[in-house]
Amino acid sequence: MLKGVAASPGIAIGKVFLYIKERAEINRQNIEESKVEYEIERFKKALEVTQNQIRKIKENALKEFGKDKAEIFEAHLMLASDPELIEGVENMIKTELITADNAVNKVIEQNASVMESLNDEYLKERAVDLRDVGSRIIDNLLGLKSGNLSDLFEPVVVIARDLTPSDTATMKKEMVLGFATDVGGRTSHTAIMARSLEIPAVVGLGNITSQVKNGDIMIIDGLEGIVIVNPDDNTINEYKGKKENYDKKIEKLKEIKDLPAITPDGKKVMLAANIGTPKDVKSALTNGAEGIGLFRTEFLYMDRSTLPTEEEQFEAYKEVAEKMGDRPVTIRTLDIGGDKELPYLDMPKEMNPFLGYRAIRLCLDRTDIFKTQLRAILRASAYGNIQIMYPMISSVEEVRKANAILDEVKAELDKEEIKYDKDVKVGIMVEIPSAAITADILAKEVDFFSIGTNDLTQYTLAVDRMNEHVKEYYQPFNPAILRLIKLVIDAAHKEGKFAAMCGEMAGDPLATIILLGLGLDEFSMSATSIPTVKNIIRNIEYERAKEIAQEVLNIAEAEKIQKMIEKVVRKTE
Ligand code: PEP
Ligand code: MG
Repeated sequence: MLKGVAASPGIAIGKVFLYIKERAEINRQNIEESKVEYEIERFKKALEVTQNQIRKIKENALKEFGKDKAEIFEAHLMLASDPELIEGVENMIKTELITADNAVNKVIEQNASVMESLNDEYLKERAVDLRDVGSRIIDNLLGLKSGNLSDLFEPVVVIARDLTPSDTATMKKEMVLGFATDVGGRTSHTAIMARSLEIPAVVGLGNITSQVKNGDIMIIDGLEGIVIVNPDDNTINEYKGKKENYDKKIEKLKEIKDLPAITPDGKKVMLAANIGTPKDVKSALTNGAEGIGLFRTEFLYMDRSTLPTEEEQFEAYKEVAEKMGDRPVTIRTLDIGGDKELPYLDMPKEMNPFLGYRAIRLCLDRTDIFKTQLRAILRASAYGNIQIMYPMISSVEEVRKANAILDEVKAELDKEEIKYDKDVKVGIMVEIPSAAITADILAKEVDFFSIGTNDLTQYTLAVDRMNEHVKEYYQPFNPAILRLIKLVIDAAHKEGKFAAMCGEMAGDPLATIILLGLGLDEFSMSATSIPTVKNIIRNIEYERAKEIAQEVLNIAEAEKIQKMIEKVVRKTE
């Protein structure tokens, strides 16, 4: 039994699939003319290996899962044998004098982005296939082991060092019973994705990848943050029971999905969902979200080779706005950097990416990127109830600069007679301590705050939110954090603005009563946490929550706060 961080609730019992991948480092240096033939030969060999690999996967799929599942690999095989593609790569090696891996990457990306830009669902899917084949060829050129979560054919628990957003985006959800990873904390993106996919997960296990092998049986307990490797029959039965109880409880909680989040003495708050793509709206609605408190738009920029166009973004924002109807949709402008990279922006490697050139800092510098996004958001605002939110604000100057750019974009749209919501609300994430401390100043310049406790905690306590070695220092219940939260909520209310929270703390049942008592107006979280949080709110008097929050603010140690609150929450369940 190993202990990690409980990242996504639920229990999974299944066969281990060890997902180990090495990173393809494409050699982008030019080659000498005398090396052209050698590179072409290398490419041909890699192509042959790739075709053989795909044939094997196809045979396996046919044998075990039938014709249906095997067909996709027939398509992959055709792509890997496409004369046009092969010729394209060879020509590029010759004319541009580049390595085979570089040429394959370029040709595949060019073709895939053309397919994606045509408004055709079928071709868009083929672009995914083409990229898959492309990375297989590149992996073979570089002698890397290929692995892909989209190849899974039986339900497994996935064990990996870490999972990138693209791994989780391309994986077959129905085949993944659970995740367990070496690295990451509750607020790492793997954890956030696991919660949004409703897949049980334990992260930050240290070295789980070297302690299991393919085919082992594993229990993942995403409630307690433990995994058990090759459990005995008694343990399996015990966990089967636990799983059944948990699944039943979740079903029962869904019954209150359409009831308001109101305390017995009449204090109403808003419960909203965090989403990453338009696809997540479905889960937001089935879990009873009253709005989208955070749309992490960076996912639209990932997994591709060029920036998304205004039109592509507009379509995505409009889709969410329309599906949510009158309910507010808070679209956060690009928050790239930190652990979310965009390889095609070719940003220099940084010593401290979380303290670096990221989010609003990048947008204020690359106004071309920022303006395109703002245009898309404003245009979509004509189709629903959209609000704009800037991430990583550290001072009032940044808000003013961002608003000046927003005004420029509005003026352009006015000139072009393009409609948008002229009263669109503009708020900021409060996730940097300087913003929290100056919340009274900032509250005068914005329509709302949304507290980002994931970053606020890491910056205030100087603890990397991704680093499992310091996980015990990452304390959302640290008095410093609770005081900052109170400061921010009070400052917002003093100016008559609303205070939201979209960091993971907003969905933590242990935090609900404290946040309610501190006066938080909106809690935005992974959709699946909404019913649990609502149940707590519907069972605690607001007056009592205020008293508890007050008591908690007088406790010095995070651990004691947590213990005390655990007792109170248990009573409401
Ligand atoms: C946060 O920092 O709390 C937040 C919600 O933003 P992200 O997790 O995307 O950094
Ligand atoms: Mg953040």
